[in-house]
Amino acid sequence: MSNLKHGLMQDWPLLVHTVLDHASNWQGDREVVSRSIEGPIHRCTYSQLSVRSKKLASAAMSELGIKQGDVIATMAWNGYRHMEIWYGIMGLGAVVHTLNPRLFAEQLVYIANHAEDQWVFVDLTFVPIFEALQDKLPTVKGYIIMTDKAHMPADTKLKNAICYEDLLEAGNETFQWPTFDERTACGMCYTSGTTGNPKGVVYTHRSNVLHAMASCMGDAMSFSSRDNILPVVPMFHANAWSLAFSGPMSGANMIMPGAQMDGASIYELLDAEKVSLTAAVPTVWLMLLQFLEENPDKMLPHLERVIIGGAACPESMMKIFEEKYGVNVLHAWGMTEMSPLGTIGSRRGGMEDMSAADWWQTQLKQGRPPYSIEMKITDENDKILPHDGKAFGRLKVRGPAISSAYFKGDGSENFADDGWFDTGDVSTIDDNGYMQITDRAKDVIKSGGEWISSIEIENIAVGHPLVVEAAVIGLPHPKWDERPLLVIVKKPDCEVDGQELLDFLQGKIAKWWMPDAVAFVDELPHTATGKISKLTLRKTFKDYVLPTGDAG
Ligand code: ADP
Repeated sequence: MSNLKHGLMQDWPLLVHTVLDHASNWQGDREVVSRSIEGPIHRCTYSQLSVRSKKLASAAMSELGIKQGDVIATMAWNGYRHMEIWYGIMGLGAVVHTLNPRLFAEQLVYIANHAEDQWVFVDLTFVPIFEALQDKLPTVKGYIIMTDKAHMPADTKLKNAICYEDLLEAGNETFQWPTFDERTACGMCYTSGTTGNPKGVVYTHRSNVLHAMASCMGDAMSFSSRDNILPVVPMFHANAWSLAFSGPMSGANMIMPGAQMDGASIYELLDAEKVSLTAAVPTVWLMLLQFLEENPDKMLPHLERVIIGGAACPESMMKIFEEKYGVNVLHAWGMTEMSPLGTIGSRRGGMEDMSAADWWQTQLKQGRPPYSIEMKITDENDKILPHDGKAFGRLKVRGPAISSAYFKGDGSENFADDGWFDTGDVSTIDDNGYMQITDRAKDVIKSGGEWISSIEIENIAVGHPLVVEAAVIGLPHPKWDERPLLVIVKKPDCEVDGQELLDFLQGKIAKWWMPDAVAFVDELPHTATGKISKLTLRKTFKDYVLPTGDAG
């Protein structure tokens, strides 16, 4: 019997600091450009960022006593200091827990206590949030305010408030990253918890490195050192879609938007920094496209690709990007629990003969999984459904960057013993492997025993020129169990009535999918991660009686 224990590859642990080491050693002059909270644009190179991350790690140990396994929170915008904290804290073996400032106060308190956060790194913008909440956060030892001495708030009521740049000064730049098991926790992000309490997802060094490699692949996000990447998706949403790892891994310049995500500010960065690729949820792109519509002299000559995910990308949005601005839209689907990338809609080889019209319909879907993600759709009895683009069922996934459990064992019903994670989404998969989300299972409308896809109706409705945003919810109906209500935000100062919108849908959806009524609102409720909150909307319309409601 041969002894295969010898002569093997090196056991090189996949630790996240190796990503920054590589960027610093081989792409050391590539830049991280940040819109700072204090105002001006800040520029630094990967080499400088690497030195500062080491100083932070060393100071975190010596000055704050942070050690492996401690959970350290951040509440910060996308910027160079936030990147330094990710690499510095993760690199020393502690865990970075990103807090979403858009959550309600009670949710923040619940999450910070549940995670047992020990220190909080906080941007100037969010200091008032913790001044108000700190008495409810007993595990937190102090707050590091992410600014320099000149901008430190003089009268902050935060306990043990430390100036970030002062802390960094105390650090040692010759600090050597420790080595430990790649399966060590390094990041934590809570799902926004539309039902029940938010649940903690814990990333490991190994999952983050593997996931970043998968994200960079040609048929995924296809990053290179020639890219200038603008992650509008915040670092506190779903592991920043991996961009804080995959960007430096590929040597791309990173353009960090800070606190300003309105259309004008994003456009300014896209233009000035010649951004080639950007990523965010659809609501952000609504703001940019509105700004561009109001400024017809402005185009997007540098932008090549835009990744749209987190919620379904409407056809009208994809059309404007592709046809008016020549920007390739990559529609992606993922979840916090999946690090987050699940599928992405790049064009696969072997489909060269597909007509332009068929490719357009395919591109609108959420795409195909890159290597490392296993995926299936099943019926209620866990029977696998065919990839025919018609059968829809529960979407289940498995892989090395997918949660095996929530922190402290919450929500165990979502995790099967055989490792398949039930995403809670309902979808189809076509014969080319492109997955399409029909709905979140809890938002699906059941009419006469059949399912109506709210997402599909919404996406068509926003294609109407006078519609800004649309949502479809199911309301109780005596005969059909549920029937759809279309809720619309129309463009300001425009007149459009419900019948006109129903006429617009006519012929584009099945007859029995036609909403029973149209309601107009000034704005739709959104969740902390920028999605339309169907839960809130259902509450708002709970007493609404459909015109067909008492006909029976
Ligand atoms: P949260 O649940 O905290 O809002 P996530 O980003 O983890 O944050 O949400 C994941 C869910 O978002 C998915 O399960 C799916 O329902 C929805 N989603 C993500 N991307 C898309 C997409 N491209 N199209 C439709 N739904 C999407």
